[in-house]
Amino acid sequence: MANPMADEMRRFKASDEKNPFEAMSERFDRAAQLLGLDPDLYAVMRVPSRELKVYIPVRMDSGHIEVFEGFRVQHNFARGPAKGGIRYAPDVTLDEVKALSAWMTWKCAVVNIPFGGAKGGIICNPIQMSQNELERLTRRYTAELFDFIGPDRDVPAPDMNTNEQTMAWIMDTYSMHKGYTVNAVVTGKPVALGGSLGRREATGRGVLFCVSEAIKKFNLLPEQTSVVVQGSGNVGGIGAQLMYEKGYKVTAISDVSGGVHNAKGLHIPEVLAYLQANKTLEGYAEADYVSNSELLEIECDVLAPCATENQITSENAGRIKCKILAEGANGPTTPKADKILHDNGIFVIPDILANAGGVTVSYFEWVQDRMGYFWREDEVNQRLEEKMVASFKELSDLAELHQVDSRTAAYMLAIDRVAYDTKMRGIYA
Ligand code: GLU
Repeated sequence: MANPMADEMRRFKASDEKNPFEAMSERFDRAAQLLGLDPDLYAVMRVPSRELKVYIPVRMDSGHIEVFEGFRVQHNFARGPAKGGIRYAPDVTLDEVKALSAWMTWKCAVVNIPFGGAKGGIICNPIQMSQNELERLTRRYTAELFDFIGPDRDVPAPDMNTNEQTMAWIMDTYSMHKGYTVNAVVTGKPVALGGSLGRREATGRGVLFCVSEAIKKFNLLPEQTSVVVQGSGNVGGIGAQLMYEKGYKVTAISDVSGGVHNAKGLHIPEVLAYLQANKTLEGYAEADYVSNSELLEIECDVLAPCATENQITSENAGRIKCKILAEGANGPTTPKADKILHDNGIFVIPDILANAGGVTVSYFEWVQDRMGYFWREDEVNQRLEEKMVASFKELSDLAELHQVDSRTAAYMLAIDRVAYDTKMRGIYA
């Protein structure tokens, strides 16, 4: 169905600083150059392995058929099956999905788990669709991708506007076609269907672990650390809640329409309960209502953009007043903004580390599914902490060694790992 606003957003996304695939490529090129990456490896690793585009007919509740456009991009398989989420949104573009698939490759390599990268997306407006329509959309998309996904091929997971229910439908559809239950085909499933304890909280918890390491560099304790969080979904909401529980002073949080700010600190459980009850933060009495762009410019120790891409650009980067930027979202900062943040001495925990907690516990889920043996929640969280802390240290050491910023160090760490494995396997060319 024609949607002029979505078309406009797609054109905007594809035409400037905000093109996510160009943003990814610019960082890739810089790190590859610093590593002196072999030109053959460069040529192979710079592009995705496979881009799938599918047209998905769905019978709507009104009886007519609507055809949706969907993508699955499999970026790299050098280190194992491709891995990455599926997002449902009106402004999904192929370039966005390509960038997100590459970020999955680098993310999995940064935390050293045996996966390549992939991402999927369907152009749709999930808020306007019924549960039945979403179920039919998900099942038909799964059927279209049947030959390309699987526990040893490509393992989807939730992303923006998809959740445990979506994963259960994918798992069921895939299993129906196979003739037996294959729970390792997706991660982020309901716990009762082979999901992992701790998976739902894992991305937010990973952000917490990274922030806890980063504040040590500034000799700060959690109680002395003010935090501003953009986003109150699976990453921002849970991240804020976990930081609040650890004693951090969370002074602002937002959802898509706006946020609340109180310099003395917010009672996060209360704020999230208010949001759930009212579907907006507007009117919450204990704080001032701010717009999302105002929220980003609040003075704080830690700013955690946990919503979507392109929030910090050349336009507002100069007004960002945090010590630490913890990127819970994928691609919240453009390369032009990177330079400004760096010149202003802001320490960045790059997305491919800061939000890697989700895929790390996805890896644990896949392992548990394949073993048919499930771990306690404290075991999952402890293994996650070990991975995040070790990766943070590896990245810091590399940044120190090469005298580069932490984002460049993260790309260097990831590219070096993927390059080594690609070289050892050899290129079947
Ligand atoms: N969608 C999440 C991400 O961007 C999770 C991916 C996964 O668990 O495979 O990292």
